[in-house]
Amino acid sequence: MKKIGILGSTGSIGTQTLEIVRNNKDLQVTALAAGSSVSKMEEQIREFLPQIAVMWSEEAAGELRTRVADTNTRVLSGMEGLLELAVCPEMDVLVTAIVGMIGIKPTIAAIEAGKTIALANKETLVTAGHIIMPLAKEKKVSILPVDSEHSAIFQSMHGENRERVRKILLTASGGPFRGKKRDELRNITVEDALKHPNWSMGRKITVDSSTLVNKGLEVIEAKWLFGVEPEAIQVVVHPQSIIHSMVEYADGGIMAQLGMPDMKLPIQYALFYPDRRPMEGKRVDFFELGSMTFEKPDTDTFRGLSMAYEAIASGGSMPTVFNAANEKAVALFLDKKIRFLDIYDLIQGAMESHKTIQNPSVEQILEAETEAYDYIMNSGRRS
Ligand code: NDP
Repeated sequence: MKKIGILGSTGSIGTQTLEIVRNNKDLQVTALAAGSSVSKMEEQIREFLPQIAVMWSEEAAGELRTRVADTNTRVLSGMEGLLELAVCPEMDVLVTAIVGMIGIKPTIAAIEAGKTIALANKETLVTAGHIIMPLAKEKKVSILPVDSEHSAIFQSMHGENRERVRKILLTASGGPFRGKKRDELRNITVEDALKHPNWSMGRKITVDSSTLVNKGLEVIEAKWLFGVEPEAIQVVVHPQSIIHSMVEYADGGIMAQLGMPDMKLPIQYALFYPDRRPMEGKRVDFFELGSMTFEKPDTDTFRGLSMAYEAIASGGSMPTVFNAANEKAVALFLDKKIRFLDIYDLIQGAMESHKTIQNPSVEQILEAETEAYDYIMNSGRRS
């Protein structure tokens, strides 16, 4: 029996992880955490009977405690609760599917306690890769990627000599606005940005896909996960989203992982690695697909990617500022307080106003986050 905990169990990745648990009787849920979705968490507690459930706010935890008083689940709250969940003795794998930098401290605690990490939360490596990766190595803990592109790269490296990797080819769908120019993006609405052509995901990450910020975050994440220089990561736009990423080796051979765009595959792969469990679902039909196409990303229009490379070049705390500024700017966009293109200008402004701290501690990362949030809140405007 493999025992798992999920940070962010009520979200897109969290609920898909629980679907996999439903279909695999040798998985058991030990711990769940969410922000404020009390009703969803109550349903999950009644179905999966975890030992621990954590809600971010004490108010939500209090309400949940009353609702599930007839179960054996202990309800905790806040960072203290997340940290207790992270080291829960009855847990082998922690799925980090929480959104935002809140995931850093629990992930560090889980690594220190020797838990395998199934990593979906991008912010963890983007902001604290220099802390997480050496710590995981020291503690001999596996960090198994859940993000479909990183899972594809990981699968394409399986059994290979990593020293022979020449290039990572990170694929991108190009998002709903592929082919549009800056002028055509001026009046993009929230509803337009939430229409991803291939993937069904949470709201924030869907907007991030449309700006290419998501791809930028993935480049930073890949750098840490696979220990490659940013110059060795090439983003390739592949609108069909069938090739989830590729790795080119020293002899010119390219290994790729293909499949339907369905997050359950990489989640399940991380949970059972190196086994490939059966999974129901639509298969790639090459005759139906007909062709696959590839393009260069338009980084002048979709500046999210070029700004990510700038953040990597500055290093230290700059990727945190890139990420945090984007997070707040996207929240303002989703609240219809700013326009689509303002997202880029706000991120750029936050990065320009930040003085990079090299090799930042977790506290300094969180300070850089607050600084970027403040910058965006003071500069965000309806334009
Ligand atoms: P969602 O917004 O759908 O879900 C976020 C989850 O985090 C919810 O369960 C939410 O709880 C919980 N949460 C938010 N704040 C807190 C908090 N302070 N304390 C505890 N729990 C909290 O996000 P996604 O599932 O889309 O994404 C999660 C992470 O995975 C992100 O980092 C994303 O970049 C990454 N990712 C997502 C992919 C996808 O397909 N969705 C693909 C690859 C990576 P509540 O419901 O109560 O708000």
